[in-house]
Amino acid sequence: SSSSSSSAFELTVNSPDEMRELGRRLAGQLRAGDLVMLTGELGAGKTTLTRGLGEGLGVRGAVTSPTFVIARVHPSLGDGPPLVHVDAYRLGGGLDDMEDLDLDVSLPESVIVVEWGEGKVEELTDDRLHLLIHRSVGTVPSRGTAPGSPDTDEVRHVTLTGVGERWATVDLSAV
Ligand code: ADP
Ligand code: MG
Repeated sequence: SSSSSSSAFELTVNSPDEMRELGRRLAGQLRAGDLVMLTGELGAGKTTLTRGLGEGLGVRGAVTSPTFVIARVHPSLGDGPPLVHVDAYRLGGGLDDMEDLDLDVSLPESVIVVEWGEGKVEELTDDRLHLLIHRSVGTVPSRGTAPGSPDTDEVRHVTLTGVGERWATVDLSAV
């Protein structure tokens, strides 16, 4: 068990397509048992990134916002790990509730991606990859008409932090 943090790495993401592409690249670093926590306000791009993760992992079904279910399991189309996409917002009790979800999948054999999981799912594993997504303040939209409209590209800053031994030797700047 370790709480050591690899140095954080920050990158700039200029569009939803780039966010998906980041997810696809990141998927290449992920393996069964990995926990990815996504932090960021509503509309930050957590689900967009997870969509790319699903594409990169080669899982069945498009990743959509899990708002109306707590977790959705996307089985691999090949022999890779399934993606378990969790919206922990309504996961009151944290880990115990997570186990109570009775998902038809083994968490240690899955890649688990959690939105809104702070303070709730850290105990699942000793290691985790934490992605903090925040909107850039005062950026000028490059596409679309109104800032904040769904088809408007906006700058996001993504900070990747690996926690634990699993991530100590991974060069996050290479993602
Ligand atoms: P969250 O899951 O964090 O609530 P979503 O991924 O569901 O966020 O939504 C992000 C919204 O922001 C989408 O409508 C997307 O088109 C828009 N958007 C604009 N610029 C970006 C960007 N650079 N990265 C990700 N999403 C962006
Ligand atoms: Mg979301």
